[in-house]
Amino acid sequence: MTLPIDNLRIVLVGTQHPGNIGSAARAMKTMGLSALHLVAPERFPDQEANTLAAGADDLLASAPVHASLDEALAGCHLVLGTSARRRHVPLPEMNPREAARALLEGVGRGPVALLFGRERTGLENEELQRCHASVGIPSNPDFSSLNLASAVQVLSYELRLAVLDAAAGGLPSGRPTPVAEAEPLATADELERYFVHLDQALHEIDFHKGKPPEMVMQRLRRLYLRAGLDAREVKILRGILTEAQRMARIARGGRA
Ligand code: SAH
Repeated sequence: MTLPIDNLRIVLVGTQHPGNIGSAARAMKTMGLSALHLVAPERFPDQEANTLAAGADDLLASAPVHASLDEALAGCHLVLGTSARRRHVPLPEMNPREAARALLEGVGRGPVALLFGRERTGLENEELQRCHASVGIPSNPDFSSLNLASAVQVLSYELRLAVLDAAAGGLPSGRPTPVAEAEPLATADELERYFVHLDQALHEIDFHKGKPPEMVMQRLRRLYLRAGLDAREVKILRGILTEAQRMARIARGGRA
């Protein structure tokens, strides 16, 4: 069974302890995963990471270190974020099994990413807002937070099971295949550019009427992320925004 597993990015965001990076690499390699991505780790490279990788040093050596989350998500059309607790960000929630299936279904179409947060504070709300869904390991509600590398192990194991399932012919069909599968899904970067455009256009048409835009933007993000837009659909939506901006300029007495 050949899966483009290089496209399945395990992204560790702002990791504080290099030992956790090494243990995460080991956890991934035992489960057949290889694409480790690091976003602004506090200490890396570091001997402690190599010690705890215990033979998974190749993953450390090939792990790109990104300055920003945006950079790590370039080209990704599905982004899931793990979280030990419910956040204020309204996101669909998945358990690890559902997440593994979704990632595996997605990986055939291009890069996908699974994010893990900082040891002390997890993923920031702004980072979770980049995600299509949040993934929670159903742990003890009174003691819900796993060690970072342990969480990577649990998710990697579920991905392994999903890969083995797929190899046995059991991959679920997932979301119905569109009539013509030709159009690629919008990537994280295209969607971000769309959200910036949407934000500008909503201001220009005075949609918010002086109210703070954050809540509406969060809800709109969730709506559009849920829709699984393809690249052409994003183009159409941006075309509508451009026209709305043009009409707003005319209404203000400007030129078209
Ligand atoms: N105090 C932090 C805990 C972070 S634990 C918080 O409240 O968010 C470090 C990382 O491990 C988390 O960001 C997440 O990526 C992962 N993790 C730990 N426990 C988890 C759980 N129960 N479900 C999903 N991910 C978990």
